[in-house]
Amino acid sequence: MKVMILAKRRALFEILRSIDPEPKTELIYKTPFELLVAVILSAQATDKGVNLATAKLFPNAHTPQAILDLGLPGLKSFIKTIGLYNAKAENIMGMCRRLLDLHGGEVPHDRAALEALPGVGRKTANVILNCVFGEPTMAVDTHIFRVANRTGLAGGKTVHSVEQGLLAAVPPEFAMHAHHWLILLGRYTCKARRPECWRCPVRTACSYRPKEQEPSAVSAKSTRLAVGRALSRGRVRPA
Ligand code: SF4
Repeated sequence: MKVMILAKRRALFEILRSIDPEPKTELIYKTPFELLVAVILSAQATDKGVNLATAKLFPNAHTPQAILDLGLPGLKSFIKTIGLYNAKAENIMGMCRRLLDLHGGEVPHDRAALEALPGVGRKTANVILNCVFGEPTMAVDTHIFRVANRTGLAGGKTVHSVEQGLLAAVPPEFAMHAHHWLILLGRYTCKARRPECWRCPVRTACSYRPKEQEPSAVSAKSTRLAVGRALSRGRVRPA
């Protein structure tokens, strides 16, 4: 994989910015606390699934005390459609207790304090620092990890190395929104099973080779080749 030169990195983000100047998380929330709960729930789950659950949870409980008042079984009843909900419910209860005990019920603007909350790791802390506090962090999830490696923006075998690579590679003027642009690119175009290069807006900047072709173009080409071979063997009469 080639490492992308600065001009191409800049071109890639200029394209993404021109398509979506103010990208946002697809998780639905109204307060920093709601976002924190939603991000904890989103581990190994889809944003759509989380939004369906929180659409029922938040009108009933959207503060640390209100969630504690639900009790563990009550909280589980709202989130049981989400994978790993038993562990996530325990973490959310612990997180709410700690927010009340140490932070006056508020989401702290401090990486160490965030990462000390149950259920909150570096990626979740990065999302909160970016979306709530406007810090240019890079919350590397499975989509960003894949896109960074494929495009040549930042190669790496670990989430940490890709995060560090991206923090160095993304030009400063794009740093605030870069993680949302890359997540959306990975979720909807540079998909895990097969990147859809033929319709990708950043294909001219991306280092991935060979680019994937549109399936219908591939099947038309193989049909032409098969007919050509049959004609050359005299098995098919030309029309
Ligand atoms: S051109 Fe292909 S590999 Fe590169 S970002 Fe787009 S979909 Fe991904």
